[in-house]
Amino acid sequence: MDLKDLYQEIILDHGKNPRNLKKSDNFNKDAKGHNPLCGDKVHIYLKVDENNKISDIAFEGSGCAISMASASIMTDLMKEKKEIEVKELVDDFLEMIKQNPELKSKILGENEKTKLMSLSGVKKYPMRVKCATMAWHTLTAAMKNANEETNTDKFE
Ligand code: ZN
Repeated sequence: MDLKDLYQEIILDHGKNPRNLKKSDNFNKDAKGHNPLCGDKVHIYLKVDENNKISDIAFEGSGCAISMASASIMTDLMKEKKEIEVKELVDDFLEMIKQNPELKSKILGENEKTKLMSLSGVKKYPMRVKCATMAWHTLTAAMKNANEETNTDKFE
C-alpha cells in the first residue's frame, strides 16, 4: 500500500467512525466552530485539570469527511497533553496543512504523525483547508475559554 492509499484509508476510517464524538458531561472548557464555506460545524468539550493537562476531550459536530476526520484525529492526539504541548501541536499542524512538507514537533510518535499527515493532501485544495483546520482553531478557542463561535472566515 502506498502512502496516498494509507492516508485515504485513515481519513475514511475517522470520517465514518469519528472517535470521541459525543456530548461530554464532564467538561470545564468548550467552544464552537463553524466553517460556512462547507457547512461544517463542531463543538469541542475539554476537561482541563489543575496541571493544565487535557484529561478528557470530546466533540459534537457534523460536516464533510475531512472536517470529521480532522476533529476525530485531533481529539485522539490531544488526550493527556499539557497546554504548552497543545499549542505546539496546533501551530505545527496549521503550518503543515498550509505549507510545510512535514511536521516538526518531537512530541508525537510515528503512528501519530502518520495519522496527522493523512490530512496533508488538502494543501492542494485551498477550499478544503478550512475543513481540516476548523477543529484546531476551535480547540485553541476552547483552551482560552472563548465563548464566541470560531468562524473559519477569520483565518487564512
Ligand atoms: Zn468541509
